[in-house]
Amino acid sequence: GEIAHATAEPGGLPCLCGKTGCLDTVASLSAISHLATRAGLPGDLEQLEQLAAQGNLGAVELLHRAGSALGLMIAQMVQIMDPQHVLVVRQGGELTGLFGRAMRQAAEGNILPQLAPRPEIITGDVMADSWAFGAASVAADRSLFREF
Ligand SMILES: [Zn+2]
Repeated sequence: GEIAHATAEPGGLPCLCGKTGCLDTVASLSAISHLATRAGLPGDLEQLEQLAAQGNLGAVELLHRAGSALGLMIAQMVQIMDPQHVLVVRQGGELTGLFGRAMRQAAEGNILPQLAPRPEIITGDVMADSWAFGAASVAADRSLFREF
């Protein structure tokens, strides 16, 4: 699917896909960087996380908004697909700061409580072979489950 282009904020910012308010305009690293520099903040996630930890309200608001949007989208995907695990990775770093906490809080707070067992939300850094695993997974899914 194209979760990045699912609407996260109706009437939000224009997206490259032609729609407005896509998750990609709120919670992608490029959107965070763009919104941060537009607000006079550093565009680097680590620097934003540091500022947020020091109490910078602009950084806190931006990271909380982005993480919450991603978490809410994850909750919706969980309710549709009922996965056992949700894996959220980032190339070049973990999601241990405010962005990751807001994401996890929004996801866990918006999954139907009666949905049991709840999926484990795993965050981490992209490993060198993650892209190959992902491509192999897509190929295996298509050849094993969709070609019948
Ligand atoms: Zn879009």
